[in-house]
Amino acid sequence: MFAWTLRSAAGPAGAFRLSETPGGLTKLATMSDTIFGRILRGEIPCHRVYEDDKVLAFLDVNPLAPGHTLVIPKEAVATLDQLSDDSAAAIGRVLPRIARAVLSATGASDFNVLQNNGAAAHQAVFHVHFHIIPKKDGQGLGLSWSPLPSGGVDPGALRDAIVARLQ
Ligand code: AMP
Repeated sequence: MFAWTLRSAAGPAGAFRLSETPGGLTKLATMSDTIFGRILRGEIPCHRVYEDDKVLAFLDVNPLAPGHTLVIPKEAVATLDQLSDDSAAAIGRVLPRIARAVLSATGASDFNVLQNNGAAAHQAVFHVHFHIIPKKDGQGLGLSWSPLPSGGVDPGALRDAIVARLQ
């Protein structure tokens, strides 16, 4: 199956995914139809730990450790690169405070903040979210970290390409 995202004139909240099927293109769902969109609209319950006009945080239903919390923007976009500066700032402003509360409540002192974008990067819910995952008593996020062997990529050229796109 081949799927991609289109944006409507209404902006990211009106984006929808299309699926190519033998019968043609089928509209799958608007971005606000994700499970997190339904939580934001109060259609399904969550264990809410924080809310303001731009951000909601709630406990993950399948926690990697007690206190595993999800922090989401109310803006309905799939991945971090699509997020507005306003929503990004709102999340950045409260992430440390929510993390402190999670640590204090769970007695953990170590934690990971995880943010997946795209199916290949293990994203399952296509509404931007940050995981706050306490690391305690062997519970929490497991990581496999395999640095590339040196060579092959010119870091100077890559840096120049990234900087040019930030102008
Ligand atoms: P990701 O793989 O980064 O997209 O993670 C999605 C997360 O959402 C997973 O950790 C799920 O356990 C969590 N999740 C899915 N549905 C719900 C729900 N209804 N309430 C709370 N967390 C959920």
